[in-house]
Amino acid sequence: MQPKSSIVHLPVYQPGKSIEAVKRELGLERIIKLASNENPFGCSDKAKQAIQQEIENTSLYPDGAAVAVTEAVAKYLDVQPNQVIFGAGSDEIILMICRAFLVPGDEHIIADQTFPQYKHNADIEGAVTVEIPLRDGTHDLEAMLAAVNERTKIVWICNPNNPTGTIISQAELDRFMERVPGHVLVVLDEAYCEYVMDDSFPDSLKLISQYNNVISLRTFSKIYGLASLRIGYGIGHPDVIHLINQVREPFNTTRYAQAAALAAVQDQAFIADCREKNAAGIKYIEQQLERLQLTSFPAHGNFIMVDVGRPAVDMFDALLRRGIITRAGHKKYPNHLRITVGSQEQNEAMIQALESALAEYKVTS
Ligand SMILES: *Cc1c(COP(=O)(O)O)cnc(C)c1O
Repeated sequence: MQPKSSIVHLPVYQPGKSIEAVKRELGLERIIKLASNENPFGCSDKAKQAIQQEIENTSLYPDGAAVAVTEAVAKYLDVQPNQVIFGAGSDEIILMICRAFLVPGDEHIIADQTFPQYKHNADIEGAVTVEIPLRDGTHDLEAMLAAVNERTKIVWICNPNNPTGTIISQAELDRFMERVPGHVLVVLDEAYCEYVMDDSFPDSLKLISQYNNVISLRTFSKIYGLASLRIGYGIGHPDVIHLINQVREPFNTTRYAQAAALAAVQDQAFIADCREKNAAGIKYIEQQLERLQLTSFPAHGNFIMVDVGRPAVDMFDALLRRGIITRAGHKKYPNHLRITVGSQEQNEAMIQALESALAEYKVTS
């Protein structure tokens, strides 16, 4: 066999440990998963009802163009339906963008610690990745701009950035967009934008109305709490959306996902409530980290990147033994754990476990 040379060295994606696996391996009763930035409050009841109603149509293909949910989301965002495209999670939109734009030898620009799927999908297409170091955990847009050349096809800006949780401001993004050449597609991955409360956070929809080379990626997996259904979307100029539609699989999102997303976007009271609870959770965790003399990056999403002052893989294990699943293994930040903001009860249990793990290390070191 002769697979693409660009894929033969790619690792198979390793998901975080599942709750069931940890229970089994460690014989623990209570496991709290704070590793994948899922919504601790579930999803809207209206979304659950919509899924149940859709069960009757299980034998029927979904609407490939996802017309109803596209119209609902376009109406909510006050854009035109031809400016919105749906995918099996925003992961699939990332895949489709790479498929539509990149050929071997093209360049694309990412931060040196960001969401891994940009590089993964660009690698498959044989593109060359240019990594620009984060500064203080934040995208360095000036350096990213300086790295643009005639071979550059895409610049990826994850805002808030996963895993650091930092944001770039409207002013920074405006200056970037004014100068980035029109042959470059700027992808704003805004998977956590609904959580952001900082006034300086960019209004990407305004940029989309001004520039045809920018797309915002959003998802129903995070604050909307529909991660299992795999549905996300992109918003951009109709021309960009059309290009991505040309490589889309005919039935890429399911009936359940479309029905649930349609109901979920119309229940903004649930979203506002989750945003408030998350903000309170961040405040609580930051206060507790200060008490434990640990520092963290400014958290704008539903996760917090904490410097645990020692190899994070060790602290990951120590927390796992205490029933808390977190995320370590960030190459630029080997001493940082990414911890999802949970419910208040989960956050308290996490802090208790962290304090106990830190005490264990004090005794042994
Ligand atoms: C979770 C996440 C996504 C993708 O989520 P989907 O479940 O595929 O919609 C995209 N970007 C970032 C930064 C994420 O954290």
